[in-house]
Amino acid sequence: MIPFVRDMAFEYGQPDAVSPLIRRVVANNPGPFTYFGTGTYIVGHGEVAVIDPGPLLDAHLDAILAATAAERISHILLTHTHLDHAPLAYPLQHRTGAVIYGLDEPRHQTDEGDEDPRSAADEAHRFRPDVTIADGQILSGPGWTLEAVFTPGHASNHVAYALTEENALFCGDHIMGWSTTVISPPDGDMSQYYASLDRVQARGFEVLWPTHGPPITEVTPFVEAYRNHRLARERQILGELRQGPATIADMIPRLYRGVDKRLHVAAARSVLAHLIHLVRTGQVDCEGPLNLTSYFKLISNSTMGAGS
Ligand SMILES: [Zn+2]
Repeated sequence: MIPFVRDMAFEYGQPDAVSPLIRRVVANNPGPFTYFGTGTYIVGHGEVAVIDPGPLLDAHLDAILAATAAERISHILLTHTHLDHAPLAYPLQHRTGAVIYGLDEPRHQTDEGDEDPRSAADEAHRFRPDVTIADGQILSGPGWTLEAVFTPGHASNHVAYALTEENALFCGDHIMGWSTTVISPPDGDMSQYYASLDRVQARGFEVLWPTHGPPITEVTPFVEAYRNHRLARERQILGELRQGPATIADMIPRLYRGVDKRLHVAAARSVLAHLIHLVRTGQVDCEGPLNLTSYFKLISNSTMGAGS
């Protein structure tokens, strides 16, 4: 079981000093993927960095500006370019002159064998930060030091930021206290996700600050449980395929028994992410293109490692 943490005291638009160097302002965009809303972090005092400005909401822009009224925002850092994290970076930059750091929005990708519905015009509107950050790059201001830690998986361009002074990690949507994170192929990638979890675990951070929800303070057991949850799902999928070849649609009702049917579409993408990983690691075979409608079958010698 994942030891979820879900309690968080806050008021929309009001900055909270949550550590000596960190303030958090929550945007009013609650939802099934954002929990209470986007938590924008302000790091430092006087000359500050803003991490994940959030969605295009005027009230949230005003709240960030009010929270930093007598200060200068020198850096805007993005964990990734999803709509609940990045779009407010441009208006905030317009008002403050801050430099935007992160990784370009990925090119639109589709499952193998699917049509790409996005036009060349859309391609021109990809989000691009001013500075393409490098893994391990250090950004600093008075009294604070942030290190970029590449953590692809939820998104191919996902970057976490380590705050050296507090041995803390702003982990974006890579790890969330209130929920598991969405891994939706082809941009979401389960193999990369596992590697990024290991990477965070190896660093021994004292606290994780996700963009949504409260901090995670029992980092090692939490990340361990988070990883085990994915591995358990993987074993269930292998168990399904041990009964014979199957499509994702065949497996979903059994894998997600008791789960609201409206969530089955998202669940199918998550199972696809697992299956892509299992194909890559030589445990599962797939006939034809690897997508939501493929037929999957177990590679016989993989039954040995599948447990039960
Ligand atoms: Zn998010």
